[in-house]
Amino acid sequence: MNFSDLALAEPLARAIADKGYTTPSPIQQAAIPPALAGHDVLGLAQTGTGKTAAFALPMLHRLAADPKHRLKLHTRALVLAPTRELASQIAASFQAYGRYMKLSVAVVFGGVPIGRQERALAPGVDVLVATPGRLIDLVMKGACDLGKVEMLVLDECDQMLDLGFIHDLKRITGLLPKQRQSMLFSATLAPAIEQLSERYLKNPIKVAVQPAATTVEKVVQSVVHVSQPEKLALLAHLLEGEDVASSIVFTRTKHGADRVVRQLAAHGLVAEAIHGNRSQPQRTRALDGFRSGALKILVATDIAARGLDIPAVSHVFNFELPNVPEQYVHRIGRTARAGRAGIAIALCAPDERPFLKDIERTIRMTLTQAPLPPNFRDLVGKTAKVIKSNPVAADPPREERDFNRSRNGARPGRDPRAVVHADGRGPRRDGGEGRPAGPRSDGRPQGRPQGRPGGGFGGQRTGQRDGGGRRSPAGR
Ligand code: AMP
Repeated sequence: MNFSDLALAEPLARAIADKGYTTPSPIQQAAIPPALAGHDVLGLAQTGTGKTAAFALPMLHRLAADPKHRLKLHTRALVLAPTRELASQIAASFQAYGRYMKLSVAVVFGGVPIGRQERALAPGVDVLVATPGRLIDLVMKGACDLGKVEMLVLDECDQMLDLGFIHDLKRITGLLPKQRQSMLFSATLAPAIEQLSERYLKNPIKVAVQPAATTVEKVVQSVVHVSQPEKLALLAHLLEGEDVASSIVFTRTKHGADRVVRQLAAHGLVAEAIHGNRSQPQRTRALDGFRSGALKILVATDIAARGLDIPAVSHVFNFELPNVPEQYVHRIGRTARAGRAGIAIALCAPDERPFLKDIERTIRMTLTQAPLPPNFRDLVGKTAKVIKSNPVAADPPREERDFNRSRNGARPGRDPRAVVHADGRGPRRDGGEGRPAGPRSDGRPQGRPQGRPGGGFGGQRTGQRDGGGRRSPAGR
């Protein structure tokens, strides 16, 4: 199949040619024809599979085929996404695919002033991409009317549920016309997603692709066993490797991400952090720098593990292993994209070995163990000296941390990791625009269950949420 077989409107075909796409990806081949025919679609696919175009192209085709005057405050197509970055990325895709149409696309998300968004929505738009919390705020202010939405997309639905957006989704869908086309995309088909699809989709055509497994296969993965205090020395050494063009370093906590950035800086390695406590301009600057190649090292919490399409990542370093095994798959999926090879190296401390076991069981392979570099003792000594002699690299004094924490919503003097949320991480889970946590997408209770879950990992290779447990390593 090629794009001409899809008989998309001429301006879309031209924009696709501009992008250099020749053949539709598997999810596009499966989803576009039923979507063009007006069916609801349930898509099981992750970012990296071309799923944005799988829903954007049929929506744009419909807008092109049935042009209407914009109505004040209204939108014809609504896309809901879990994070600001993903929302921006989706809006940029609509703009790129719709560049030869007279299209008005708006994107709204929390963490930035609302006024400009109100003004953008006032004349009415064709496509609105939004995170759920901010969209509700705008509706409540009367800045937006959802009463004439013809097409709805719920993107990365499982992540939206994990972030506690279920009540917002209910409220928003309650404001939409019953007569509409709806598409729901999720990486996994957890029971809660099935329920949502039953509630919001009418006789959906189910389409699925299995990108996670292929991604895992394309990434050269290894693990290095190293004690927690010695990890930074190893990371700095690995980052200085010749073939390391651009890399994402994943940590479990926001505080941990900031500390890695400071300590790398002491080594003369420029890195920027991206996590939920950073302001929107800081996050945008870091991502833009990284995308352009000006910034070579991005240090991220799991907020960046999903959804972001950054094609040129050569290496993913798991500075701390995730306690949810499928998060590992999302993290390493940041490399080996668009046919490129990628390398993922996990730094595993003794207390993280249970996490490693869970990961290996989920991906059904044992990671190759890489040795420590021969001169590792010297490197550790050098790092200790560098950090000692560089006050910036040290943790900020306790009072300052407490001040920052209290500004960020956690109680002073209390470890933010003790504030348990649906994803087992810090006090805010959605980068700032979130709502109170709702039920998890897999129906499990929130927070960290004690010990190992009873269920196994089932037959799927990756991506199942209802098999993997969360654990916290001893002493954390
Ligand atoms: P997505 O999963 O929508 O984030 O897309 C992942 C990447 O694939 C993006 O950089 C898209 O521009 C690119 N892409 C989407 N569809 C195609 C296609 N048919 N051919 C080549 N690249 C594509």
